[in-house]
Amino acid sequence: LDADEFRRQGRLVVDFIAEYYDRIDDYPVRPAVSPGFLARQLPETAPSVTAGNTTPSPQLYATSATSSFPGLTHWQSPHHFAHFAATASNVGALGEALAAGLNINPFTWAASPAATELEVVVTDWLGKALHVPENLLFSGGGGGGTLLGTSCEAMLCTIVAARDRKLAEIGEERIGDLVVYCSDQTHFSFQKAARIAGIRKGNCRAVATSWETGFTLSPKALLAAVHADVAAGRVPLFLCATVGTTPTAAVDPVRELCAALSGAGHDDVWVHVDAAYAGAACVCPEFRNVIEGVEAADSFSTNPHKWLLANMDCCALWVTRPHALTEALGTDHDVILKDGAADGEAVVVDYKDWQVALSRRFRALKLWLVLRCHGVDGLRAPSQFALVCFRLRPPALLLRLREKKQRCHDDDAGRVINELNRKLLEAVNATGRAYMSCAVVGGVYVLRCAIGNSLTEERHVQEAWRVVQEQATVILAAARK
Ligand code: PLP
Repeated sequence: LDADEFRRQGRLVVDFIAEYYDRIDDYPVRPAVSPGFLARQLPETAPSVTAGNTTPSPQLYATSATSSFPGLTHWQSPHHFAHFAATASNVGALGEALAAGLNINPFTWAASPAATELEVVVTDWLGKALHVPENLLFSGGGGGGTLLGTSCEAMLCTIVAARDRKLAEIGEERIGDLVVYCSDQTHFSFQKAARIAGIRKGNCRAVATSWETGFTLSPKALLAAVHADVAAGRVPLFLCATVGTTPTAAVDPVRELCAALSGAGHDDVWVHVDAAYAGAACVCPEFRNVIEGVEAADSFSTNPHKWLLANMDCCALWVTRPHALTEALGTDHDVILKDGAADGEAVVVDYKDWQVALSRRFRALKLWLVLRCHGVDGLRAPSQFALVCFRLRPPALLLRLREKKQRCHDDDAGRVINELNRKLLEAVNATGRAYMSCAVVGGVYVLRCAIGNSLTEERHVQEAWRVVQEQATVILAAARK
C-alpha cells in the first residue's frame, strides 16, 4: 500500500473496529459452526493477485463481524463468561497498532534503547501499582520485571533458572532427581513447563487439595511430599503457588508455604507465585492481602491481558534475582548481537536473556499507554475476584435417589447431578445469550461464570442469570418425567 492508501485503509479498519464494538452486544457470543466449516469455504491455496489488484476490498472491513467471520467467538462480548476475561481497551488496541506499525525487535538494549527502558520503567510502575514488594522491582535494587507473552512462558523461564542454579550446585547428572511441586488445582501449563525443562514426569508432585481447605495447597501436605522425596534421595527444586486458581480462584497461602519450606531447611526451593488472573486485583489496596508473603518468593507473574485492559498478549514476570534467569537463558555467543552497549561500563538490560526466544514484541508500549491513560485509579474497580462457580442441586431428585438407598449410594446421586449440570451448561451455551464453562473440583462438576469483560454491565449478568434459571427449569422438568 502506498502512504495514502495506507491512511485510507487504516481509517476503514478503525471504523470497522468501532462499529464492531457498537454492535457486539447483539452477536451470539459463541458461533454455531462445526469443525472444518471455514476451510470448506476457502480456496485450497492462497490466491495469486495480479499486479495492480493488490488492495484488499474495503468491503472486507465494512461487512459486519458476524458475516465476515461466522465462526468467531466474541471474546469481548459482555455475554462471555466462560474463561477468565481477556480484557481489552481501545487504548490497549491503539498501543498494539502502534507497536505493529513501528515493528521493532528490542531483544537487546541497543536494538531499541527506548523500548527496553520503557519496559524497565513500566514493569516497575505496574509492580508498584499492584503492591508487589520492592525486592522484585528494579527500583528495589536487586530484582526486576519483564513482559512476556504468557504465564506458561513465565513458568518455563523460572523453572529453567531454578534448574540450572541447582544443577550447578549438585551436578548436571542429577537432573533426574529434581522434583517440582504444585497442587492438583494448579494450571496444567506448570506441568508442561516442567516437562519442557527436563523434569521427569514422575517428579512433578500435584499435591491433593480438598473442599475442607477450599482447594488451596496445604503447607503440611506440601511438607509431607517434600520430606518423602528427600528421604528417597530426590532434590526438591521448585514450588508453584497459585493466587487465583483456574477452576475456583482459590488462593494458596503464599506466606505459610514459604515459611514451611524455610522452616524445614528448604529455603533454596524456588517459589514462583502464579497470579495470572487474580494478580490484577492487587491494584486495589484491599486485595493486597491475597499476595501476602510474596516477598519471600523468588518470582511472581500476572497477566495484564486478563484483567488489566492490556490487549493480548501480555504477561508480567518479576524475579528477585534476574541473574538466575540470565545465567540460564543468556546467549553471549552471537557476534552480530554484540554491539558494545552491554560490554561497557553501563549496566543495561538485554531482555533476550530473560526469555526463551530471541525476538520479542514491543509490549511495553500498550501497557504504558493503558497506565498513562487510565491511571492506577482508573484500573481500580469496586469488585471482588469475579469468578462464580455454581451448580444445580435439585433437592427433590436427591431425595428420590436417596430413598432407593439400597441400590443407590451418594456416588450415584453425584453422578446424576453432575450429568444434569453438564446438560445445563450445554443448554445455556446453546442459547448464544451467555457463554460459560465448567470445572470438576473434588469430583463435583460446577459451572464457571467468570465476570470481568470491560463491556459487561449488571444487566448482562442479570440476563445470564435469567438464562441459567430458564434452562435449569427446562432440564429439571425433563428429569422429573
Ligand atoms: N495460570 C493460571 C492460574 C491461569 O488461570 C492460566 C490461564 O487461564 C494460566 C496460568 C495460563 O496462562 P497463559 O495462557 O498466559 O499461559
